[in-house]
Amino acid sequence: MRLSSSFLPTIKEIPSEAQIASHRLMLRAGLIRQTASGIYAWLPAGLRVLRNISEIVRQEQNAIGAQEILMPTLQSSDLWKKSGRYDAYGPEMLRIQDRHKHDLLYGPTNEEMITDLFGQIVKSYKELPQILYHIQWKFRDEIRPRFGVMRGREFLMKDAYSFDIDYDKAVITYYKMMLSYLRTFQRLGVKVIPMLADTGPIGGDLSHEFIILAPTGESGVFFDADFEEQDWLNMQIDSEDEKALANLFKQITQFYAATDEKHDKSRWDQIPQARRREGRGIEVGQIFYFGTKYTQSMDIAVIGSDGNKIYPHMGSYGIGVSRLVGAIIESSHDENGIIWPDSIAPFKACIINLGVKDEACVSICEKLHQIDPENFLYDDRDERAGSKFADADLMGHPWQIIVGPRSASKNKVEVKRRKTGERIELDVEEVANYISNYNDR
Ligand code: ATP
Ligand code: MG
Repeated sequence: MRLSSSFLPTIKEIPSEAQIASHRLMLRAGLIRQTASGIYAWLPAGLRVLRNISEIVRQEQNAIGAQEILMPTLQSSDLWKKSGRYDAYGPEMLRIQDRHKHDLLYGPTNEEMITDLFGQIVKSYKELPQILYHIQWKFRDEIRPRFGVMRGREFLMKDAYSFDIDYDKAVITYYKMMLSYLRTFQRLGVKVIPMLADTGPIGGDLSHEFIILAPTGESGVFFDADFEEQDWLNMQIDSEDEKALANLFKQITQFYAATDEKHDKSRWDQIPQARRREGRGIEVGQIFYFGTKYTQSMDIAVIGSDGNKIYPHMGSYGIGVSRLVGAIIESSHDENGIIWPDSIAPFKACIINLGVKDEACVSICEKLHQIDPENFLYDDRDERAGSKFADADLMGHPWQIIVGPRSASKNKVEVKRRKTGERIELDVEEVANYISNYNDR
């Protein structure tokens, strides 16, 4: 993509409406624009990040046997009246009437709809377990939308739902999802701690929130510092191995980690003072086991081996895909701009042409652009070097390939790693290999 003809509007000034770094940077780097309170349009660079995150989430859901579907954003109120949540959910739910005076709502979550769908299709215990998910926009009429996409009103969520024959099997599915989440966040390049959490309006008695530590986070958190020393994912775990899954869960939960709603002072006091960490964090995902709450209230059962009715045990599992964009920036930026983890960056590299009127520069840039025209952004604008560097730092591309007249005449370019600032001079022909074989120390 060529910067001169692209829809990638960067802003030099600091937007006054934004209170935290990630929101400011998302506006300045041209990822989003607000269209109404808590509602955002995603511009090309932002959309690329959203898609990259979604794709990693999707792959790690599929890897544990979850199946992707797509449910609509609009829901009939009938199902919610059955489950009893239509009245219970409160003013966060956007209620709409169609021309026939039917009550509809813009889904804030999908437990009712998935339970109904499941009931239409699955009739026998032999068809269990099932894990179904979708990545879809949600609407919650938040009283105070703020921090940009972190607390929006319309936001993109991956929500998965599981159905198991009994408690024991449902808990195994819960562990599986825990593993899938740890793998997902590791691939997204962020450090996340699963913490014991309150279940809120979803109901149920077992829940973890996945928290990115950040001083601007809305949740108060308490955890054992030894948690951060563990390398869970180096334990090679087969997601079908029930013993290994149970063991992983035991390992994780032996360290104290809880959000303020679940904070247990007496357990906390038993942790050596030096290991106690108190701080703030951003919730980027939450998983719940809630048993037969919905299958029972909506009377959705399967036939068991003895011919009797069984209410499947359910769980639900959310990841805030759009919130993650903000949360990752919040934990990965500096005074010059965003520092994208390689796995989700909108562009892998930016080719910075410092001699748009110099033949050697132009020809080298064109050649480099051909390495990966989709993912190498080519800054071919006739601008000052300083403002090109500033934009590249602001947009946070993992690599900058700087092409200036002096080195171009010797067929050389300079390659800069955004994360470390490290620079190296390379022959043009070496660039592709250098970037693809690079390992962070
Ligand atoms: P919060 O406590 O932040 O309001 P929640 O616990 O109500 O979130 P869940 O029902 O657990 O949210 O939804 C799953 C995920 O969706 C959350 O972990 C979060 O990442 C994301 N999410 C929830 N509300 C919003 C919002 N208003 N804007 C952006 N993302 C959100
Ligand atoms: Mg939550």
